[in-house]
Amino acid sequence: MIVFLSGGTGTPKLIEGFRHIVSDEEITVIVNTSDDIYWNGLYISPDLDTIVYLFAGFLDTEKYWGIKNDTFNFLEQAKIYGLEKTWFNIGDRDLAMHVLRTYLMNKGLTLTEVTKYISRRLGIKARIYPMCNEHVEAFVELLDGKVLNIQEYLVKHRFEPEVKRVFFRGLERAKAEEEALKAILSSELIIIGPSNPINSIGPILKVKGVKEALKEAKAPIVAVSPIISNKPVSGPADKFMKAYGLDPSPLGIAEFYKGIIDGLVIDVADEALRLVIEKKFKIRVHVAKTIMESLNDKVALAREIMEFARTLGEE
Ligand code: GDP
Repeated sequence: MIVFLSGGTGTPKLIEGFRHIVSDEEITVIVNTSDDIYWNGLYISPDLDTIVYLFAGFLDTEKYWGIKNDTFNFLEQAKIYGLEKTWFNIGDRDLAMHVLRTYLMNKGLTLTEVTKYISRRLGIKARIYPMCNEHVEAFVELLDGKVLNIQEYLVKHRFEPEVKRVFFRGLERAKAEEEALKAILSSELIIIGPSNPINSIGPILKVKGVKEALKEAKAPIVAVSPIISNKPVSGPADKFMKAYGLDPSPLGIAEFYKGIIDGLVIDVADEALRLVIEKKFKIRVHVAKTIMESLNDKVALAREIMEFARTLGEE
């Protein structure tokens, strides 16, 4: 049993690799929902959708959001009517998910229940849990004090402006589903994938019950650095880490996850940091090629992590 803590880009790539070496039945994913938004009356959960689409075989793996070969006729029409937030791209096929989820949530189902229902309909064998059922919303405060919803910052402003801080509303009320915590406790390996530590993994760790379960869990906990040579592979992790006073490097990643993880996988480009991290943070470091472009890259990294975890488990 492997549990992943995931955002919507880096970790899903790694999960793709793992799907070639373990069966979906052995995979549990606890997914960030702090970048969920209400969009013209629809509840959108971007990271959850990426994970669900990945396991269903629908995911557009060029972009890591939305359904492959989707069209955008609905959105074009919506613009004519003056719907709001049309900078947020909702594809025609993708729309079905948001309509269904919102409908079921309005009937009183929790986000976890809706995710289970959808997973069943799609024949998904992995267990997928939103980090919580409460609505959490992430915001970014810019240097001039202007506050943007995280999607507005990421999509509309293409994460260009420098950031003073990232903050969350509703996170203090968020509780993890008991089943998700049990999965952590009974797993053989826990992986914090190469997702943004601040706005993807950070919120999951702050949900009530998660840190405690990770502490109690017997399984080795391995994180993969999303930062390579001081730069994220995609997205604003470097800007967000700087705003948190963290060095945008695997050192900053180690500092953020210290006390939680047993092992950290860093890229070959950062090999020089291995001993520094091991000494300073008492975290075992494994050096690997962590840029996942081809399926081969993803599978190879998954295999290396399995092997690294095995050595951690023996210690
Ligand atoms: P979001 O929900 O779309 O923001 O996605 P995540 O938080 O899951 O992933 C974003 C992070 O994934 C970024 O910090 C990237 O640097 C990292 N990432 C994306 N692709 C790769 C990759 O191939 N290798 C590694 N190591 N990190 C990656």
